[in-house]
Amino acid sequence: AARDPHQPEFQEAVTNFLRTITPVFEQHPEYIAANVLARLVEPDRAIQFQVPWQDDHGTMQVNRGFRVQFNSAIGPYKGGLRLHPSVNLSIVKFLGFEQVFKNSLTGLPIGGGKGGADFNPKGKSDAEIMRFCQSFMTELQKHIGLDLDVPAGDIGVGGREIGYLYGQYKRLHGAERGILTGKGLSYGGSLARTEATGYGLIYYTQAMLEDNGDTLKDKTVVVSGAGNVAIYAIEKAQEYGAKVITASDSNGYVIDPDGIDVATLKDVKEVRRARMTEYATARPNAEYHEGSVWDAELTYDVALPCATQNEIDAAQAKRLVAAGVKAVAEGANMPSTPEAIAEYQSNGVYYGPAKAANAGGVAVSALEMSQNSRRLSDSFATVDGQLKSIMETLFANSVAAAKEYGVAGDYLAGANIAGFTKVADAMTAQGW
Ligand code: NDP
Repeated sequence: AARDPHQPEFQEAVTNFLRTITPVFEQHPEYIAANVLARLVEPDRAIQFQVPWQDDHGTMQVNRGFRVQFNSAIGPYKGGLRLHPSVNLSIVKFLGFEQVFKNSLTGLPIGGGKGGADFNPKGKSDAEIMRFCQSFMTELQKHIGLDLDVPAGDIGVGGREIGYLYGQYKRLHGAERGILTGKGLSYGGSLARTEATGYGLIYYTQAMLEDNGDTLKDKTVVVSGAGNVAIYAIEKAQEYGAKVITASDSNGYVIDPDGIDVATLKDVKEVRRARMTEYATARPNAEYHEGSVWDAELTYDVALPCATQNEIDAAQAKRLVAAGVKAVAEGANMPSTPEAIAEYQSNGVYYGPAKAANAGGVAVSALEMSQNSRRLSDSFATVDGQLKSIMETLFANSVAAAKEYGVAGDYLAGANIAGFTKVADAMTAQGW
């Protein structure tokens, strides 16, 4: 905190993490000797750069771009790019730090990094998005590489943006398809990558419920967000027999008592890039409300926050407990404040932390890298099957780690410990 006084999100992520991994040091004094913790909380490097671009009126705009390469002990840096006006060094560092352990949990050979810019994609034309992405990549390409750092998407970066970023990279370097993941299927993307984070979240949630003798079938589910993660979480939850009654954007939320209609949601968000008010217009029984879905007076069983960091505070967590929620699994990164997590845990709510529950996206990104290296494309069923197995293994490993270190049943501590020990082993084996 003394070193980074203006980085509250980064401090929150590090503090939450450290308080759960203390049992490890009693069994592993070698990690203390190697000063692993001090090295883990400092990124290998943090790059900040200017992104100049021209808007449709011919005016020159300037944004701030970032790439934080956090830790490469187990593989090349891997993590998404976020385009949102709130992006700053604190947010990119918190996301990069989380990514290190998430990537470790997947069992795949990927280190952790994250990047983005304080660019607001909302209301921009395709041509403006393209010029921004081209300028962003003109600088970013100096710092990434197939065995060095492989970015992907995050908030505000989907297929369109990855396409423009890749096009610019190719102009400068030639066709190295594995340089970015989340690509379109016609130029090296993987089937099931778009769905991976949302589907993976549901595979994880189902495993967590089954661990407690329950399933998603016939559960009422509240989801926040209406982006890449939320849409596919809703789709898979309904396939598992749950009824998802909400979706939201940063202005408000819809309640659809018939269950969210995924085809309508995809049309509104992916095709028309419109607001959630349009969903309510298209579905006569749905109601639109301004504000946060976590303030709504609803009765439900499972909460899946899939929008952004710190979207659930202590008061909202209390409301959630009062609503009868049995399980919270995080699709977004760090959506629950530390006080909210304490509410879940002290009220017996099963809590699946982001770095485990939303690891499906990066896992399939790593599978995309593998397909690109092999110059082959795997089928949807193959990739989806691998995703399901990765999520189930990751859940089982978290449960086993919690048991081994005397915190059985704590899925948060288990995920942190399982992710941490692999990175710490790799770091100590590689020396200073
Ligand atoms: P998208 O940009 O596709 O969607 C984000 C959604 O969340 C939109 O509905 C957006 O509404 C809403 N949202 C964004 N910021 C806020 C805010 N400040 N307050 C309320 N709502 C907000 O992003 P993704 O679905 O890709 O990402 C969502 C979360 O999941 C992020 O935390 C991301 O880091 C995490 N994640 C994403 C992965 C991926 O594969 N994409 C992988 C792992 C984690 P609006 O349109 O109004 O901005």
